[in-house]
Order: sequence, then C-alpha cells, then structure tokens
Amino acid sequence: MTAIAKLYVLLCGYEILPRSVCLRGGGNRFVESVPVSAYLLETQQGFVLFDTGINADLVRAPALRNQHFTKNSWEPPVVWPQHELLPQLRKIGIAPRDVRHVVLSHAHLDHTGNLRHFRHAKVWMQKSEYDFAFNGPGHPGVVRSDLDDPDLDWSFVDGDHEVMPGFTLLSTPGHTPGHQSALISLPQAGRALLVGDVGDWMANFENEILPGEASDDVAALDSIRKINRIHRDEDALMFVCHDPDLIQNQKLAPDFYA
Ligand SMILES: [Zn+2]
Repeated sequence: MTAIAKLYVLLCGYEILPRSVCLRGGGNRFVESVPVSAYLLETQQGFVLFDTGINADLVRAPALRNQHFTKNSWEPPVVWPQHELLPQLRKIGIAPRDVRHVVLSHAHLDHTGNLRHFRHAKVWMQKSEYDFAFNGPGHPGVVRSDLDDPDLDWSFVDGDHEVMPGFTLLSTPGHTPGHQSALISLPQAGRALLVGDVGDWMANFENEILPGEASDDVAALDSIRKINRIHRDEDALMFVCHDPDLIQNQKLAPDFYA
C-alpha cells in the first residue's frame, strides 16, 4: 500500500564547489559544478515537496549575494530561470497552494530557499535540526530568514516517522545534527531513497566517504551505512541530491517516476 503516485525530480540550480566539499579528502584543486535537486511527490494526500532549492534573490541581489556567498569566499550558485521552483511547479500544472507537506532534509540554504512560498503547508523537520538552526552559534550555510517566518506550520519529528503509507522520514544525522532522508514507495518503480546530503554523490555511498562537512563524523558514517543497508535490503532507487553524473540520466520534471 502506498499513497504515492508520482515522483518528480526538480533541478533547482548548480553550486560551484571544491570537490572536497562533496567527498572528504577529495581535493581542493578540483572545482565541481554540482546540481541542486528537490523532489515533488504526487500523493493521495496532496503534493509533497522534499527540499525547496535555492532562493534566487540571494544570488541576484548584490547585497544578499555578498552577505551569503562572496563574503564567505563562496562562489554564488547558478540559478537560471529554468531552475526556479515555481515555474517548474507551473509546468507540472500545480500552484504552491497544492503543496500540502514540505519536508526539509536539513537547514542548509540550498534546501530551504523557497520555503516562504509554502506557508499553508505542513513543514516537516527533525526537532534537533530546528534547534541547530536557531539555538546554535549560527552557521554561514543556514539562512535563518528562510526559516523564521511566524506563519510557517511546523511539524517537528524525532527519529524515523511515517508521514503516510509509502512515505517514511528517516533520521540520518551527521552532516548536520538533525538531518533526515526519506524512503518512499512508488506504485511501479518500487522503493526509492531521497538521501538529502547524507552523501552528495553516489561515491559517498559506494565507498563510504564522509561528506566534506559534518557536525558529527561518527553519526555521518552511521547514516551512510543506514542508507546503504536500506538500499540493499529494499532494492531501492537512489536519488542523490548533488551528483553531477546521476543527474544526466534522471528524468526531470515535468517527466516523472511512477
Ligand atoms: Zn547541506
């Protein structure tokens, strides 16, 4: 039994990063252009968005671009018009208000950028991730203004949690303190894992390589192994958010997996 009918892959832009940000020890002299993915599920309980891409205003407005990227010696991401979230939803034939649930894998800005369009939706985050975003010392990758809208309808979880039949949140901490992933069931394609930033690339999973940044290395490796175990046991498809090779062969919205 699954409530999910379709999975759409939304390509929301590219980040320009040293390889070592994706693969620990991968070298600083390789500069990679990596995709930023988000996912939309059509379900019996309305549409569900898993991550929301980058806020294009941060890239385009000079003051914001400086504050969030240049000042930190980060290359600003690439967000072309075809990468913007709302036009991609329009192409699928839906409006933001059709999205009933938003899942945030974690609080980094390449996952939270368009949350402001979904004030009417239930927003799912691990409680420990929210605490990291708001009660921690602050992190340049967390844009609190993406998250501090008082009209957001938060639904905090602690650990693995079934949102609806065929859609389970998986606690996968380590990259950040409350990172989460999702295991979904598609009617024909079967199980699929939306892994967020547990590993940016397939190589993180194939070779158990830590992400460049982790709040807890031991937990991050445990989470890579948890995903690998489910991948193997459930014969699940892997949807890896930032893999530059994987994106070449994925169906992109408005095409979909069913
Ligand atoms: Zn991240």
